[in-house]
Amino acid sequence: MIGVYGGTFNPVHYGHLRTALEVSEAFALDEIRLIPCRLPPHRRQPQASAELRLRMLQLALSGVPGMRADRRELDREGPSYMVDTLRSLRRELADQSILLFLGVDAFAKLKTWHQWRQLFDYAHIVVMTRPGHRHDELDDFFDRRLVERPALLRKQQAGYLYFQHVTQLDISATAIRELIALNKDPRFLLPDSVIAYITEHKLYRG
Ligand code: ATP
Repeated sequence: MIGVYGGTFNPVHYGHLRTALEVSEAFALDEIRLIPCRLPPHRRQPQASAELRLRMLQLALSGVPGMRADRRELDREGPSYMVDTLRSLRRELADQSILLFLGVDAFAKLKTWHQWRQLFDYAHIVVMTRPGHRHDELDDFFDRRLVERPALLRKQQAGYLYFQHVTQLDISATAIRELIALNKDPRFLLPDSVIAYITEHKLYRG
């Protein structure tokens, strides 16, 4: 089973890294791919270029077993649609389950994503929730796909929806960029190697 964790990673931080590790362990994934988008379809172009964001991700994951930065969205023209990413992964991983991990915030906006229904043709969707979180009423489309037993995600390669509790750290890339712009120390919110890279490349300074 392979996990897919997409994001802007502008920059990557312990909120991403901790949840990625927890879901890797929870589902005994063979690997989790962290996939930075080249052009996010739903937001302004990030301050750090896609190559820099990928480089920071590689630094953060260096020496971490089972977690890999995947550059496929950088090598595609146009907006980074998750459905294209999953389609290309599916071609490589013909006989494996693919789990697409989304935060609750991303899941709430899923229906604005390009060809969002087709995501389920290529992967299961796992929504990462806070302990104690109750998801909103699901419409028929999602309700038909909802499963309570994670073993089913291994039996079938795609098509299910599952909710998984994770520890959510109150860290956001936005807050980190704001700290740096104010010349404050972002230490302990993200790996030191990433901070060193940000400093060296003078990223996010006001
Ligand atoms: P920004 O502040 O720039 O919007 P972000 O910190 O929310 O960025 P993204 O790269 O947009 O990071 O997030 C990618 C994915 O990581 C999303 O699915 C999001 O829900 C999840 N995520 C981000 N921060 C956290 C966190 N602190 N805990 C758990 N999941 C997170």
